[in-house]
Amino acid sequence: MTIPLAAAVAASVLLLLAAGAKAGRSPWRPLQTVLSSARISSMSVAEVESLLEEIEEAPEAPTVYGAMCYDCAMPPLVTEYLCPACGEKTVYADSDFSRPLQELGITRELFEALEQAAGLDLALDESGFCSFCGSGGVAVPLLVITYSDGTVVRTPVCPEDLRMLIGLFSGERFYESTQDFILPLKPESGHLRSVLGLPGGVEAGSPAD
Ligand SMILES: [Zn+2]
Repeated sequence: MTIPLAAAVAASVLLLLAAGAKAGRSPWRPLQTVLSSARISSMSVAEVESLLEEIEEAPEAPTVYGAMCYDCAMPPLVTEYLCPACGEKTVYADSDFSRPLQELGITRELFEALEQAAGLDLALDESGFCSFCGSGGVAVPLLVITYSDGTVVRTPVCPEDLRMLIGLFSGERFYESTQDFILPLKPESGHLRSVLGLPGGVEAGSPAD
């Protein structure tokens, strides 16, 4: 192993803490690899379905253009997952892991915001990153949704997916993307159906049209 461990650890921990501090929130309190809202009651599949139908039937919200940032500096290479549950570090040589690891701080924050917005029993499962107490070798966190009838849906999510869901469950026809862009939800409805495990999704083998 030739990766300078101490330097990589310090860099990634600082990065995650900075992500929390920048948004004006206290740093995320790591307790376990599965964050859960543990709600007493959750929305039903039909209720979520009707939210999506409203988006699909309403006129598309206009796009609001945000700041165009041409500073394309490469983000720091994050290669390590520090597990909040067992405290062990999993080091990845595969650069496919760098971006999801770098985005983990913002993913956790957006998940917490989604929990506030949605009346759903939700969990964020990042155990795939840890090769000690989890499966390891999985570069994507999973959003776990338990509907009111007990149906459980587990789908990979990125920060942009969570931003879309926050918009949807806030009752908007748009969502706040990065760099102050406001984007319509309507073109994303097929993708959102996939993320929410509803029929008509554009992924998981269903035809797009
Ligand atoms: Zn672990």
